[in-house]
Amino acid sequence: MKIAKNTAVTLRIKVSDAKGLLLDEGKTPVSYLHGGYANIFAKLEAALEGQEPGFQTTVELAAEDAFGERDESLAQTMPKSEFPPGVKVGGQIQRLDAQGAPRHFFVTKIKGPLVLLDGNHPLAGKTLRFSMQVLDVRAASAEEIEHRHVHGAHGHHH
Ligand code: ZN
Repeated sequence: MKIAKNTAVTLRIKVSDAKGLLLDEGKTPVSYLHGGYANIFAKLEAALEGQEPGFQTTVELAAEDAFGERDESLAQTMPKSEFPPGVKVGGQIQRLDAQGAPRHFFVTKIKGPLVLLDGNHPLAGKTLRFSMQVLDVRAASAEEIEHRHVHGAHGHHH
């Protein structure tokens, strides 16, 4: 079956940076609903349109087409004394951004009495290479189309 609107596509996706450094080896396949549902980046969908299981391609996306540019207003500091106990570098906390919306911040560094936080996606601001292999294509169910995502083993769980 060919990838077209309202097909459920299962892929293996490896992600590397522009220099070829592997960031995600894509061990677990992912499934998405094809056809403009924003389940995956639009330019990746475009590269897969009309293809079948077995197809492989590598697509390089600029930051603006992937996880977006970095927003430096999301790089913040917080006194260590106000910090919930037990949070370490690499951990996450939820706090409000400048617009008052809750957002996950990564703890990037502990520097003396200060904790450095970053609310950007870890891959924001990066050009990324996506190596994709199509494993399976099937017609999506009416329920999946209504929910705008795929159910099942590699899809969405409710
Ligand atoms: Zn659903």
